[in-house]
Amino acid sequence: MNETQSPSPPAHGSPAAPARVTRFAPSPNGPLHLGHAYSAIVAHDLAMEGGGRFLLRIEDIDGPRSLPELADEFRRDLDWLGLEWEEVPVQSTRLETYAAAARILREGGFAYPCACTRAQIRTLPPRKGADGREYPGGCRGRCNPAPGEAAALRLDIERAMTAVGEIVWTDERAGSVVADPRDFGDVVIVRKDLPASYHLAATLDDAADAVTLVTRGRDLFEASHIHRVLQELLHLPVPDWHHHELVLDADGEKLAKRRGSPALADRRRSGEDGKMLAEQLRLRNFDLGT
Ligand code: GLU
Repeated sequence: MNETQSPSPPAHGSPAAPARVTRFAPSPNGPLHLGHAYSAIVAHDLAMEGGGRFLLRIEDIDGPRSLPELADEFRRDLDWLGLEWEEVPVQSTRLETYAAAARILREGGFAYPCACTRAQIRTLPPRKGADGREYPGGCRGRCNPAPGEAAALRLDIERAMTAVGEIVWTDERAGSVVADPRDFGDVVIVRKDLPASYHLAATLDDAADAVTLVTRGRDLFEASHIHRVLQELLHLPVPDWHHHELVLDADGEKLAKRRGSPALADRRRSGEDGKMLAEQLRLRNFDLGT
């Protein structure tokens, strides 16, 4: 599952740049910070350089953690940065799509219900794959939720991998990658408390929104292995990916509100010039504002 880094990013502004459909997909459970701004700018610019489309999708299914009023703040932030976008439906309008996909996976024998807690799952022995490699298993065949008991749905990764065989995905920076999500084990595709996990919802949404280039931070590089396998199982179109560098704080950590990274909205309200900040982010020469 190693990422091999290509020596240089794609040539920006190249006349042969394809018309891409990219998206920025923030979750309204906390304010946007500089890392989000960078992600949005990368997605926007990669779409614009070939005359493509840049989409905004609000990922709002995270139950009580989702704050609808933050979505408006996000729109103001993006506008302040000088970006233009098309907005696609928010996730909470797509619950039927998620349920239908979960049904297909379950009926195909690729998913099973699981009522275990995380702590219980951690105590289960690893599963051995056909190649002898061990990876976290799940509780398939061991946990039979009672009717009405809250249960997640887990992907049976071994069955899934046997069914899809060797498949690849393409990252614009890392090149061709063989999909191998087994390090995640039997990953949750429908949460106990939510109609889909991030993995299932994002995969289905990117297909529904006809995204051709999934752009996001390289901290989510490994998750793309799972998404590629879900696409294959669900017969979805396969986009390319672009996992960009992260914006790190002075300690080399990913930015996070809880570590005191200032919200874009605060910088905006303080009168800072958002378009200038966007230019600085493009050059990766910016003030963290801390
Ligand atoms: N809602 C996810 C996040 O904010 C999106 C990740 C992605 O771009 O796939 O982290």
